[in-house]
Amino acid sequence: MTAKRIDGKAAAQEIRQRVAALVPEFERRTGRPPGLATVLVGEDPASAVYVRSKNRATAEAGMAGFAHNLPDTTTEAELLQLVADLNADERVDGILVQLPLPPRIDATRVIEMIDPSKDVDGFHPMNAGRLATGLPALVPCTPYGCLHLLKQELGSLSGLDAVVIGRSNIVGKPMAQLLLMEHCTVTIAHSRTRDLAATVRRADIVVAAVGRPEMVRGDWIKDGATVIDVGINRIPSDDGKGRLVGDVAYDKAVEVAGAITPVPGGVGPMTIAMLMRNTLVAAHRRAGLADPEGL
Ligand code: NAP
Repeated sequence: MTAKRIDGKAAAQEIRQRVAALVPEFERRTGRPPGLATVLVGEDPASAVYVRSKNRATAEAGMAGFAHNLPDTTTEAELLQLVADLNADERVDGILVQLPLPPRIDATRVIEMIDPSKDVDGFHPMNAGRLATGLPALVPCTPYGCLHLLKQELGSLSGLDAVVIGRSNIVGKPMAQLLLMEHCTVTIAHSRTRDLAATVRRADIVVAAVGRPEMVRGDWIKDGATVIDVGINRIPSDDGKGRLVGDVAYDKAVEVAGAITPVPGGVGPMTIAMLMRNTLVAAHRRAGLADPEGL
């Protein structure tokens, strides 16, 4: 059996188009477009690429973008002040502070400073707690994108065995919460898990968010399982440019899985699509409007 390749690019495009189609109605009702502020500190090339893509997507959706590119020398106090200013700015519905921050800045303090109603990354403890207790929350974009792909592929997830590999606050933990809300039986695996291969073999759904190239082997995958590969790892290639691979050994896994996301072109594009979706939803909630339908 060869797995179906889950097209994250197409799914992301569809969500971005739906968001863009809803922006004029928001603008008509409130007199302004939804606004997203991005904050980049320093010159990490990968972060700069991500933030540029987010700014471009904001413009394409017809939303107002407020890009703040700060020098590497920015202090924690200066960054906290910028976040306070953005919290107070009525034109701004979403605040995204690109991680990682330089090590001398305490990322937790910065995240806690963001107004939870503008926390479109869903990292504030208030949103994490609301998600864990089943209350409406702003949900982290990457796991939310994974969930969208899973539901698109499988419909109901109720009763399925799901294994999430990785327990970070930005991917693994919220992913597990979302799967639990969909009535999966959820296992969270991590670096101390004793027999990862046996754990993965039980799973109808595997979400790999580890950051280790092709660590999940093809023969760990149960026949017909759905595999979501969050990993983005650059490995050396013959042409010297390097190439991107996921956390799953795709070439082998594709022979046993029922459906699988490629890297690139799987989860990656969904993250930005869900950021656009979260910004539109945050704008509606802040304006006292019902959540937009069909997102
Ligand atoms: P992270 O914070 O480094 O967390 C990695 C997790 O993997 C940790 O929980 C760690 O366990 C676990 N782990 C490490 N080695 C392991 C092993 N040998 N066996 C089992 N578990 C192991 O990473 P992250 O931020 O969640 O990101 C994970 C991956 O997703 C990275 O490749 C990142 O680039 C990618 N990512 C992609 C997107 C996207 O848009 N597609 C967004 C975010 C992240 P411990 O907790 O025990 O250390």
